[in-house]
Amino acid sequence: MSAERPRIEVYPGREAVVEFDPDLTFECVDDCTWCCHHGVLLYDRDLLELAARANLAETTTDFRGEKFVAREDKGREEHVDDDGNACAFLREDGLCSLHAEEDWKPARCSVFPLGVWRESGDLHVGIRDSAHDHCEGLGVSERRVIDELDAFLPELLWEIPNPDSDREL
Ligand code: SF4
Ligand code: SF4
Repeated sequence: MSAERPRIEVYPGREAVVEFDPDLTFECVDDCTWCCHHGVLLYDRDLLELAARANLAETTTDFRGEKFVAREDKGREEHVDDDGNACAFLREDGLCSLHAEEDWKPARCSVFPLGVWRESGDLHVGIRDSAHDHCEGLGVSERRVIDELDAFLPELLWEIPNPDSDREL
């Protein structure tokens, strides 16, 4: 089945098997912030990068043997999940403090609304089920995802043994 899927060279020598409609468009909706209401997985290299920018004891948590950015009670009603929590780095104005102030964010944050997984050695990319339900940015612009896969898929995804993004707090 995957043999019929388009294979896109995202970086020289690094291909992804595309498992979504090639005509899919996307543009992040600023005020949405849904994908920042959850704790995101930190790949090992992210953890090193984050350690240079933040207090890991205050901003990360362990779950099933892996590190995630912690969720915290924000004490506000905007840009939070139903339980009042959101990512430790999500500011009151809906911006990511890491992205806005450090021009960096964890790799996993770039991937959403896509999801990646490794299958028979290949990196596959699709749309996450949760994105279909919650992401407001699908199909709202002329920007085809398949034309800009490098914006969603950091190169380190090809370099780690288990890049599967379907791991959440
Ligand atoms: S680190 Fe930034 S981009 Fe990632 S979930 Fe948290 S607020 Fe959102
Ligand atoms: S859920 Fe989609 S539209 Fe909302 S902030 Fe995340 S990527 Fe943007």
